[in-house]
Amino acid sequence: MLCLGIESTAHTFAASIIKYTFTESSLKNINLRNLRNSYARILSDSRDVYFPPKGSGIHPRIASRHHAEVSADILKQCIKEAGLSIRDIDIIAYSAGPGLGPCLRVGAVISRMLASFYKKPIVPVNHALGHVELGMMLTCADDPLVLLVSGGHTMILAFSQKRWRVFGETLDITIGNLLDQFGRANGFSSPCGDQIERLSSRSSGTYIRLPYTVKGNDVSFSGLLSAAKRLAEKRMREGMHFAEVCYSLQETAFAMMTETIERAISFTGKKEVLVVGGVAANKRLREMLENACERHSSKLFISPNKFAGDNGCQIAWVGIIDFLFREKEIKIEKSFVHQSWRVDTIDVNWRAT
Ligand code: AMP
Ligand code: MG
Repeated sequence: MLCLGIESTAHTFAASIIKYTFTESSLKNINLRNLRNSYARILSDSRDVYFPPKGSGIHPRIASRHHAEVSADILKQCIKEAGLSIRDIDIIAYSAGPGLGPCLRVGAVISRMLASFYKKPIVPVNHALGHVELGMMLTCADDPLVLLVSGGHTMILAFSQKRWRVFGETLDITIGNLLDQFGRANGFSSPCGDQIERLSSRSSGTYIRLPYTVKGNDVSFSGLLSAAKRLAEKRMREGMHFAEVCYSLQETAFAMMTETIERAISFTGKKEVLVVGGVAANKRLREMLENACERHSSKLFISPNKFAGDNGCQIAWVGIIDFLFREKEIKIEKSFVHQSWRVDTIDVNWRAT
């Protein structure tokens, strides 16, 4: 079975083809929470990222124009890399939300057009579910607590009774947004997480106290952002290097995430933690989580860097498993986009408990 997955929720327009080889017994395995990559192969993975001008965030309409402009080339590249023709594809999957409306609509329109012209089934995919399920498939984690840290999400999830339940989340901006907004205010180009990481690693390691806000299992980053911006301005005015501010920002935000993960491990007794989303690439975050997992004898799984951020494979993979376990096909005229589609509203038919 071949699925073309199209991703277009925010800054990235991406397309990927995954081939899933299934037998009766491998289908049974899926239902046993045992999605193993031995049956799935990523045949192609093409992407193009929209970079806003220095100092600005993503303007949804301008990003959607970028996606429309690059879409034909990305699709051609994706099909060529897989060595296939579009007629060989069995399923078309697209990210249907959550995300920026104009960007989501580009992927949805292209998918509907391909599905209707080539008479293929269409599968709308929840983008957050894509991050989680691709992470599960690539790392072979079995029953983890999932930390989803990206531009669009900051959530701790655990699977229970057919759904990925939210155990804790941000009460305001996401962790990716915290890093990107701080970076932009200081003249970086978005996304800024890796640039802040680079500067932090070059700092003297002097920690400057910043607001730390954990409320139960939830976190709040807006006070931290304002304080870090003020501190950076002051340092600039005084002609001082501001790498310590980047360092202190990372230390504070990641310690907040680590505290909530530790509490979630204690509460749920999970023996595995899986980290997915673009911020999973950060080495300092990994180190803090590694220490927390060690303290609780849990195993840490991290999505490979290449697949941590937004990509088409996450959509193609969920497209396949959703299609295999769906009772009825979705009619093209019922394939919508949902800008605020929460992951905990979706029944996950392919996992057992
Ligand atoms: P996603 O939305 O999953 O594509 O992830 C994008 C987010 O990941 C952006 O907010 C980036 O700033 C952030 N990011 C990417 N690389 C890193 C890194 N090395 N450290 C921290 N954040 C990162
Ligand atoms: Mg994402």
